[in-house]
Amino acid sequence: MLVYSRAHLDARVAELRAALPERVGLNYAVKANPHLAVIGHMAPLVDGFDIASAGELALCSAAGIDPRRISFAGPGKRDDELEAAIRAGVTLNCESEGEGARAIRIGQRLGVAPRIAIRVNPSFEMKGSGMKMGGGAKQFGVDAERVPDLARQVIAEGAEWRGLHIFTGSQTLSADAIIEAQANVLALAAQLADDIGHGLPKLNMGGGLGIPYFPGDEPVDLARVGAALAERLEDLPPALVRTELCIELGRYLVGEAGVYLTRIIDRKVSHGVTFLVTDGGLHHQLAASGNFGTVVRRNYPSAIATRYGAQATEEVNIVGCLCTPLDRLADNAAMPRAEVGDLVAVFCAGAYGATASPSAFLGHGPAAEMLV
Ligand SMILES: *Cc1c(COP(=O)(O)O)cnc(C)c1O
Repeated sequence: MLVYSRAHLDARVAELRAALPERVGLNYAVKANPHLAVIGHMAPLVDGFDIASAGELALCSAAGIDPRRISFAGPGKRDDELEAAIRAGVTLNCESEGEGARAIRIGQRLGVAPRIAIRVNPSFEMKGSGMKMGGGAKQFGVDAERVPDLARQVIAEGAEWRGLHIFTGSQTLSADAIIEAQANVLALAAQLADDIGHGLPKLNMGGGLGIPYFPGDEPVDLARVGAALAERLEDLPPALVRTELCIELGRYLVGEAGVYLTRIIDRKVSHGVTFLVTDGGLHHQLAASGNFGTVVRRNYPSAIATRYGAQATEEVNIVGCLCTPLDRLADNAAMPRAEVGDLVAVFCAGAYGATASPSAFLGHGPAAEMLV
């Protein structure tokens, strides 16, 4: 079972609001955790929602979110998805010239001016970022030098111009890397606005703030990021003075608010190694098994929940119930002695958990989810 904490979500948003300049809005990237109760809880806490499919649009609608607060990125938007978004008044973060042309055509057919921003593929990326999503040849966004032509074209063809989206990376713990990326984003946006010849109603500056998973990981120095950004805003290029600014965060908002709980159903020894076999595994929390976006497998923080705080007395391997050697939750973990029936907690399970795991694999079924 995946359990998410309202109090943790509230506290995380409050920390961000306190650290970031008031002018900078906060968007939630729904793909990190699209559990309906989580989206609903975030609705009054954040300013906007970033989605990446019509399925996520349907979830946001079910949570009662005003579509005008939603922007839609993603490199392969089908016509039916574009139509649903345009009808609803969602901003499209346009990823290519082809997509822009389709959006315009669909808008003309519907008699609705599509709200269009352009996602920029910048020539730089966020240093030390866990997943690179900008810089060089990418399936995301429009290469920066081609953005002005496309922007002028969609504006001429009747789109409601919404500005730019520049996402440079993900899962970064370094304040310096984030500060540098934000400065680069602001400079690029100002230059593009000048080249386009229209102001930017809005600039989505991306996000990329990461969370600590492993020993030695230090949390992002949020105060420093906020102070540096405030300094930049004091001295914005003229093109951005009236632009609405926001950042978009997924993992940072929800990752540490979730814990994965699974029950021990067997305790066995093989060649002197103790295995705690649980009724869960990578079909619920793929990332903790080390098979989602990591090269080297490391243990997520974990504990025996039903013996929390007890002293570690043995070293165990905690595994899932799937018939594959990939299904490992903790290797050589120091734990208090646990018995069949005890619960294992795997922390940092609030982002890229349930929906980023192959829940149909081996037929055990998806994890239950709850917000408490
Ligand atoms: C995935 C994604 C995010 C969220 O990334 P996190 O690392 O979870 O904060 C934000 N924006 C875009 C465009 C994304 O694709």
